[in-house]
Amino acid sequence: LISRMQPFGTTIFAEMSALATRTGSINLGQGFPDTDGPRAMLDAAKAAIDGGRNQYPPGPGVPELLAAVAAHQDRFYGLRLDPASEVLVTAGATEAIASVVLALCEPGDEVVTFEPYYDSYAATIALAGATRRTSVLRFPDFAVDDASLRAAFSSRTRLVLLNTPHNPTGKVFTRAELELVASLAREHDAWVVTDEVYEHLVFDGAQHVPMATLPGMSDRTITISSAGKTFSATGWKVGWLAGPAEAVTAARTVKQFLTYVASGPFQPAVALALGLGDEVYAALAQSLQGKRDLLCSALEEAGLRVSRPAGTYFVIADAAPLGATDGLEFARRLPELAGVVGVPVSVFHDDAEAARTLIRFAFCKKDEVLVEASRRLAAVR
Ligand code: PMP
Ligand code: GLN
Repeated sequence: LISRMQPFGTTIFAEMSALATRTGSINLGQGFPDTDGPRAMLDAAKAAIDGGRNQYPPGPGVPELLAAVAAHQDRFYGLRLDPASEVLVTAGATEAIASVVLALCEPGDEVVTFEPYYDSYAATIALAGATRRTSVLRFPDFAVDDASLRAAFSSRTRLVLLNTPHNPTGKVFTRAELELVASLAREHDAWVVTDEVYEHLVFDGAQHVPMATLPGMSDRTITISSAGKTFSATGWKVGWLAGPAEAVTAARTVKQFLTYVASGPFQPAVALALGLGDEVYAALAQSLQGKRDLLCSALEEAGLRVSRPAGTYFVIADAAPLGATDGLEFARRLPELAGVVGVPVSVFHDDAEAARTLIRFAFCKKDEVLVEASRRLAAVR
């Protein structure tokens, strides 16, 4: 294995899901829903399979999905995109991130991102031979620290890799925070790649602000999202990116040699789903809000300190009040203590000390599963 990939062994998600299976624990580690997305979308995939759409789709994505992504960006955010040149379908958001970063970064370039970060960010930046420069979001409010963000930028900054709503913290970046990122990106003439896969999963009336909607930012912003989160279909691996034609063309050039294409019959099904009514989008967020409250209460009753998330389906809890001193060790012991699995947040950090006793739990599970997890968590106190 090349030296720059040596820090990346097995992902924490694989480790913790295997631990859950081995111990018969409730898996609140890896984030995936245990219910399916809209019925009409599932039926559309079956129809596509039965209708013979089982060979390579077009490289950029099937035309109806490209059009549906453009229509979605206009409908929700007033962003106008040309489906033919400014949208690209990818094998999940993961490939969207990889194809943009690999397309835009030369070895030695710097990528600014926040930590904790989604695990593929660090690995992808390393694959590109670029260097990550991070600014820490700190428990419990995870506010952007102006000075440390400024300090992460330099004359070598090529792009900012942003994620809002943010995994693993559940933070929804405020407009003011995004404006600071935007102004620094403009000052350093950097691209902003914004991972908005949780765009529709926000609570208590919180508002997701897409970076591309800020004044002057659509020309330098590449927006990424995925049907995995919006329509609870993580196994379909249908994602997309959208932005200036120059960047989309660059990403497409790389993407051709990563997967070429993927998810043929699922693409028309996701196109249909994107066109469903507002109530479909609202229903998932609404059900998740109740699940968040259920799990947060259970964690608090178990004696952990919780940062109540405004978005995503993750919550971070601090196990220090229970006497924990090492989150990784606590996460490995939690199946035995309580029959529940969570993910240590320190693995998403360069500065592991910033998250020493923090654990992430996913609440995208059936109510009865969360009720049982709550009952079990009461045992850790
Ligand atoms: N970005 C973030 C922030 C995520 O949480 C995930 C899924 N865990 C992804 C990207 C990857 O999305 P996909 O499954 O569509 O590749
Ligand atoms: N995105 C999910 C999470 O953050 C799982 C991703 C994965 O398994 N690679 O938990």
